[in-house]
Amino acid sequence: MNLKDYIASIPDYPKEGIVFRDISPLMADGEAYREATRQIVNYAEEKQIDMVVGPEARGFIVGCPVAFELGLGFAPVRKPGKLPREVIEVEYEKEYGTDTLTIHSDAIKPGQRVLITDDLLATGGTIKATIELVEKLGGIVVGCAFLIELEELHGRDKIKGYDILTLMDY
Ligand code: 5GP
Repeated sequence: MNLKDYIASIPDYPKEGIVFRDISPLMADGEAYREATRQIVNYAEEKQIDMVVGPEARGFIVGCPVAFELGLGFAPVRKPGKLPREVIEVEYEKEYGTDTLTIHSDAIKPGQRVLITDDLLATGGTIKATIELVEKLGGIVVGCAFLIELEELHGRDKIKGYDILTLMDY
């Protein structure tokens, strides 16, 4: 199965000059979704992971079935104001200005081994901020798994030294 057959490329979305890679056809196909999940589960299996963490919203779509399959918990990373209990936050650079991500303060226990999941690695800002949140809580990031990497944006350079899995490159 070629997973790329299940990615829709949308020109000029959300603005002119950008080709948006849409994962919803992959999610809509039971076999393709399961295959992508299995590839990440295989990657994670030897890493003795304690928790899966993913940023909203597509990080949940990728990470939750992986956590389920591994018999592990999942902790959401969200925009400010979305998590109801005490949080820690990290600010990060976006194309225009800054953004903030948060995680519940008790989401990770010190020393826990964490897999981070998201749908797509672009500039690397989101994953870098998510790594920072996990590490602030004392977690150890043992892997970062994505469905898609946009190679020309060099997101990897922002997270040098971390173990990265991507299932498809554009
Ligand atoms: P970064 O922070 O690496 O620049 O951007 C990655 C984040 O933006 C991910 O959370 C991802 O969901 C979202 N994103 C950016 N571009 C795309 C795209 O073309 N397709 C999808 N599915 N998500 C994107």
